[in-house]
Amino acid sequence: MEIQDIKTAELVKKYNFKFSKSLGQNFLIDDSVPKDIVAGAEVNEDDLVIEIGPGVGTLTAQLLNKAKRVVAIELDSDLIPILSKEIGDNPKFTLIHNDALKVNFNEIIGDEESVKLVANLPYYVTTPIILKLLKEDYKFKSLTIMIQKEVAERMNAEPGNKDYGSLSLLVQYYCDTKIVRKVAPQCFIPRPKVDSIVIRLDKLTEPKVSVKSEKLFFDIIRSSFNMRRKTLWNGVKNIGLSKEKLELAFNEADIDPKRRGETLSIQEFAVLSDKIYEKME
Ligand code: SAM
Repeated sequence: MEIQDIKTAELVKKYNFKFSKSLGQNFLIDDSVPKDIVAGAEVNEDDLVIEIGPGVGTLTAQLLNKAKRVVAIELDSDLIPILSKEIGDNPKFTLIHNDALKVNFNEIIGDEESVKLVANLPYYVTTPIILKLLKEDYKFKSLTIMIQKEVAERMNAEPGNKDYGSLSLLVQYYCDTKIVRKVAPQCFIPRPKVDSIVIRLDKLTEPKVSVKSEKLFFDIIRSSFNMRRKTLWNGVKNIGLSKEKLELAFNEADIDPKRRGETLSIQEFAVLSDKIYEKME
């Protein structure tokens, strides 16, 4: 049985719901967006879908039409009775009242094989949530998320692009990225001040490059981009090697220290990081 589209504005009115700006509450009112999110995530009946921030259940209803099960995590206690009343009876639906940053996703995933995360994320916690989801080694096949346009463009950027930086490299170390669609402010109530993008991150079975020290690899990336418009040399000169050893590392990596961080591919950062690591031993 298909679940009826949830009419966001009607529910907001029915329950006299008051939006909280501090919880990043901008609810979808354009039916095409949740449908495109579910299609973009390629949700099917084998999937356990974990949704962060269901709101009044607009996207959740579409997910329930396609997935095996949906587990939604919502922080706002005012939304819990609304969700329970509107979709709580659905046997495929589980609601968790908690902060997504505090959840151990493995307890939800259990031994499910096909797990996808789908969310219209609250923008104030986008980066910490993404970092948690990527770094804590959960068995997600993909994360299909709606986020602020600029953040999505940074995640998706290639070397040489103005948006390319440490977030691009961090996300692309763990995932392949694909833009699903753009979403204008008028698709939400209340309207956000920014444009949004739905991006899909497909988790790789192994990180895109293999490095001797992940910590050093990400330290080098961070220092290279802290010093935008400066040379790589200036970015990494305080990494903990003598001038001679650092010169040797650049030489062996075949990377010109006068280049800027934004021109290096993830593979070049990996080679440089390993050469620097070897000189530290
Ligand atoms: N999914 C709904 C939609 O698309 O209309 C609502 C999306 S709204 C942008 C973000 C949702 O995340 C809100 O329901 C908000 O209460 C919830 N939220 C905010 N911070 C959260 C957190 N730390 N953990 C879980 N949910 C959170």
